[in-house]
Amino acid sequence: MQDNPFQNALRQLTLAANVYLRSASPQARENLGQKIAELKQPVRMLEVAIPVRMDDGTIKVFQGYRVQYNNTLGPFKGGIRYHSRVTLDEVKALAFWMTIKCAVAGLPFGGGKGGVIVDPKILSKGELERLTRGYAANLYDCIGAYKDVPAPDVNTNSQIMEWFIDELRIKNEELGIKLKKNELLATITGKSLNKGGSEGREEATGKGGLYVLQAALAKLKSQILNPKSKINSNVQNSKNKSSLGFSTLDFEFPRQLTVVVQGFGNVGYNMAKFLYEEGFKIVAVSDSKGGIYVPDGLNPALTLECKQKNGYLAGCYCVGSVCDLKKGKTITNDDLLELPVDLLIPAALENQITGGNAYKIKAKLIMEMANGPVTPEADDILFKRNITVIPDVLANCGGVTVSYFEWDQNLKGEHWSKEQVNKKLKTYMEKAVAYVWKTKEKYKTDLRKAAFVYALERIILSYHFKEDILD
Ligand code: NAD
Repeated sequence: MQDNPFQNALRQLTLAANVYLRSASPQARENLGQKIAELKQPVRMLEVAIPVRMDDGTIKVFQGYRVQYNNTLGPFKGGIRYHSRVTLDEVKALAFWMTIKCAVAGLPFGGGKGGVIVDPKILSKGELERLTRGYAANLYDCIGAYKDVPAPDVNTNSQIMEWFIDELRIKNEELGIKLKKNELLATITGKSLNKGGSEGREEATGKGGLYVLQAALAKLKSQILNPKSKINSNVQNSKNKSSLGFSTLDFEFPRQLTVVVQGFGNVGYNMAKFLYEEGFKIVAVSDSKGGIYVPDGLNPALTLECKQKNGYLAGCYCVGSVCDLKKGKTITNDDLLELPVDLLIPAALENQITGGNAYKIKAKLIMEMANGPVTPEADDILFKRNITVIPDVLANCGGVTVSYFEWDQNLKGEHWSKEQVNKKLKTYMEKAVAYVWKTKEKYKTDLRKAAFVYALERIILSYHFKEDILD
């Protein structure tokens, strides 16, 4: 089960459903149970073959998916991932998490996700464009501003979104379907600014993550930062007892919190940058090739500049305004996860913290900026060890929230300033944290189950977000 993200997602649903149903009346339980059972499979799954003419003249057929999981609260919404290890079960899991996430964020969207099995790094720009246009052409009749609204995810970006939307335009024109310009624009989010994108979308997941973290830390301060609060190292995995034995972190607050970020792409980089700007000390970052560890704390912007220049992270030990080889060392992704820090941020892919390494984690707090990085088995171990996990469906919901703003602006023909976007984003993130916390306290459960229960309440009751619910 550990490696199958969809099985893990269903396990999370079952655990949350148990908490939810426990407090329901016997009469309500059957009906609610039935509605929850409906959430165990997607409404629709599309599997497409995409023939692409390669630069050498040959035709290669790629496999792609679009999963439309649930649209109770609004159009399906979710990104498109290009990765060599995409599977249907991964896309189903991501689409399911989008369903929960949009509900947690209070958005009028359901959940969906797309994926193509491809390593885009080995394609030329022309091949990438033809692949994207082929994928869009296969999906065109299922996608639309009021049907299903894609966005970027791992290895996709605004350029890819723009090819996709242009292909939808061509397909519609071929069929004589006249779409209003606003509606066509609102079909995809994550576009660049001059093509109808929103201010702040590029960095929205990181910025939203910062707001969620700040709101959560205000609630967790006494629990996380209390000098007497210890992580429990006694919960051991019997297979690996010998690797335990680290000393528990003691916290003297206020002081600079130390942070490790796994994944240095859109989400990981922006999160690291915003935290650095807020005075957190980023001691390690990594990408798919490995990580760098700089105990003095690194400068993410300078590190990215260095990575772009060198082509890799190793050697980019950038402290303050200079990069100096003596300041840091390279580190594997496995070791990076186990560094003794306050805050661990997995921002790459699923299944990074599992039953195999959860007992070795030394961070006090884990903020899931990637989707599905902590498995249910690991969740259980971390909970017993007193390590708090801010779940993905809350931690990274800033991205889809600004996608919603983009969709809304497109449909209304408006353009909001970055200040307006960030102000609204902060409000949405603070509300999401407040609702999840209220649910956590009401049901006396952990944050992941609380987020799921809150989402289930909204989805099942088709509950529409009301500004005054906390008043
Ligand atoms: P991205 O393609 O921009 O970056 C991914 C990063 O992860 C890259 O630096 C890559 O080198 C690194 N990586 C890949 N495999 C790794 C591994 N095994 N170990 C360490 N690093 C590895 O993708 P992104 O948009 O930043 O997405 C990252 C995660 O955040 C994904 O789980 C995605 O679903 C989730 N997410 C993204 C958004 C968004 O707006 N882009 C929103 C919500 C959630």
